[in-house]
Amino acid sequence: MRRGIVLGVLIAVGGLSLAVAGFQGPPQGPPSQAALTATKIEKVKDNLYVVTGSGADNFAAFSGGNTAVFVTDRGVVLVDTKLSGWGQVLLDRIKTVTDKPVTTIINTHTHGDHTGSNEFFGTMVESIVQENTEALMATMDAFKGDKARFLPNKTFKDTLTLGSGRDRVDLHYFGKGHTSGDTWVVFPALRVMHAGDMFAWKALPLVDRMNGGSAVDYPQTLAKAVATVKNIDTIITGHTPLMTPRDLQEYADFNKDFVAWAQGEMKAGTTVEQAAADYKVPAKYRGYTAVVTDGFGGVRANVQAVYDESKK
Ligand SMILES: [Zn+2]
Repeated sequence: MRRGIVLGVLIAVGGLSLAVAGFQGPPQGPPSQAALTATKIEKVKDNLYVVTGSGADNFAAFSGGNTAVFVTDRGVVLVDTKLSGWGQVLLDRIKTVTDKPVTTIINTHTHGDHTGSNEFFGTMVESIVQENTEALMATMDAFKGDKARFLPNKTFKDTLTLGSGRDRVDLHYFGKGHTSGDTWVVFPALRVMHAGDMFAWKALPLVDRMNGGSAVDYPQTLAKAVATVKNIDTIITGHTPLMTPRDLQEYADFNKDFVAWAQGEMKAGTTVEQAAADYKVPAKYRGYTAVVTDGFGGVRANVQAVYDESKK
């Protein structure tokens, strides 16, 4: 599946702190027309919008993860800021729905396609992440030295509530998966949750073990989110269109089945190579795809992760 491959490369590159610039284009250069066209603001419900991440299966149109735009009485709460260089585009899109300033930024996790334009919004905004993510962000070139002032100024461990009533936002940490600091962002009044890259698409996940991710914990973390967050009917994913709690439940089952299968292969003495070649998406998971690659999101990478973690 192209989406998995392309984003796999993106995250792999980001994880290694190599030239993510390859994706961002020259820092001073404008985003491509294809990416601009694909990066739209769409209403989710009432005062909640999403600025699409665009072209997850198309490098030329890629701007980063889905950004939630929540317009509260106090100001705009943003969830994720896309790649570096996309701040002005985000602001332009936001200005089409409200005159209020951006007052709060929440990053679902450390990756540069979700934190890249934090800097654009300056140091006066409230900027919040799970505490493990803050530690990971501090190791990124984008937040080192002089740029450390753009690091989040507020962290939480397990849960944090912002605002109240219609403006309420609940942040949750349910454990390791994509990274070691993935935040789930719930808008209770609207029955919507932003899942970040814990639920990026209907395919095997990106498990970024260099940033503390875990293939074995992944299904448990998903199951905890399903069990804990009730009263929602809409999910904003990391990189694909809106989904439902049913989709999330199915995704949790899909990942649970995958890990159980991989651990079974390991017990049976199957090599990673052979297991990856043998894997077939169970028929009940319709619309799911899997590609055999070493890249993040590939079958081989996920099998390898399960084997490595299960040996401990
Ligand atoms: Zn990510």
